[in-house]
Amino acid sequence: MSSEATMLERCQSKCELCAAEAPLTAFAVPPHSHVTVDYAIMVCDKCLGEIEDPQDINHWRCLNDSMWSQVPAVQVTAWRQLTRLNSETWAQDALDIMYMEEDQMNWAMTGMSADDKPFDCNGVELKKGDDVTVIKDLPVKGTNQVIKQGTVIRGISIGNDPKLVSGKANGGQSMYVIAEFTRKK
Ligand SMILES: [Zn+2]
Repeated sequence: MSSEATMLERCQSKCELCAAEAPLTAFAVPPHSHVTVDYAIMVCDKCLGEIEDPQDINHWRCLNDSMWSQVPAVQVTAWRQLTRLNSETWAQDALDIMYMEEDQMNWAMTGMSADDKPFDCNGVELKKGDDVTVIKDLPVKGTNQVIKQGTVIRGISIGNDPKLVSGKANGGQSMYVIAEFTRKK
């Protein structure tokens, strides 16, 4: 069976992001560029057109459902789109409760565009070595720990994904946080 036929069976001929029963196209989730069952998703024209540049914000509320997909490529796409939409409260809430395996998280982060820079909640550019304060309680993915609002992370590093900064909180373990949920000290 071809990749597309396998994927059409997986999604039951519904868009894997918004569940529309419409003509579907296979989309290879970056950085992958070839359509394979593991690294591609089936999407409708509406989703395809906005997949890296969401315009119709209400349409993308569909991610509240599709983020729970069992398909890693769908999870990765949903996480990226929610991250792009995280000026919306509902998208932030979704990101807070979304769970992804570490492999998927790494995939999701490496596929985001790499040429913008991290900015804090006030739009101040963050640089390596800065100290930041976490501005809201953030769950640590895959654990029941929470990084408390007000936690100071000293001497941050900037990774491949400009939306994230990493560093040690309270001298403890190293962690990643979304740059927009921090404030530069
Ligand atoms: Zn769709």
